[in-house]
Amino acid sequence: MEVDRLADALESLGLEHALDAVLTANQSTQVCLTSSFQAEDMVVAHVLRKQVPGVRVLFLDTGYHFAQTYEYRDRMTQQWSLNLVNVVPEQTVAEQESAFGILYRSEPTRCCQLRKVEPLMRVLEPFDIWFTGLRREQSPTRKNLKKLELHRLPTGKTLWKVSLLADWNWEQVWQYVNANEIPSLPQYDEGYLSIGCQPCTALPSNPNNPRSGRWGGTKLECGIHTFSTRAER
Ligand code: SF4
Repeated sequence: MEVDRLADALESLGLEHALDAVLTANQSTQVCLTSSFQAEDMVVAHVLRKQVPGVRVLFLDTGYHFAQTYEYRDRMTQQWSLNLVNVVPEQTVAEQESAFGILYRSEPTRCCQLRKVEPLMRVLEPFDIWFTGLRREQSPTRKNLKKLELHRLPTGKTLWKVSLLADWNWEQVWQYVNANEIPSLPQYDEGYLSIGCQPCTALPSNPNNPRSGRWGGTKLECGIHTFSTRAER
């Protein structure tokens, strides 16, 4: 199938050529990027917004992000004229805490399900191409990531999940950020290497494992990259 051949070809292409190839092969206008406004997401946004003006940038607003993250999100949205889609859960933080207590302490997987996974599942439904800033190096759970994967949502809908930086290392990300003078989240200056919700993000305990500061090392993924399944191509 064409998707198989394209997926194989992308593995040897650089960032902009790979993006060109994806957009030539799939001309749907239903294109989005999920972004937590970390450095990788900003690299993808930097190239994608030139090729797909108005691309929807989906930010999972759990209500638990750092104040600096909200400030940076708003600043970059204005500076780059991003088409931000602020994706919110069904319950506010106050409503959830009133109903279930502090889930990020007692049941973080359920908290992520309510505040990230279910809202993303709902909002992804109309899209045909889903760009991410995922890299293989980030986690053992991502080591087999392909730049192009066909994914099936729980409803049965399939879409292209595209991770143009799959083969990039941390140094390449920062070379790109610096070369293009992209502002970055201020928490990086404090030593954070992977930045999510504030209660579940700490300085990494192992500098060789950037995600070791997430969830106190008790889990590796929030679930937004594991709820959809790789579909047969
Ligand atoms: S990362 Fe923490 S605060 Fe954010 S949704 Fe998951 S458990 Fe809740």
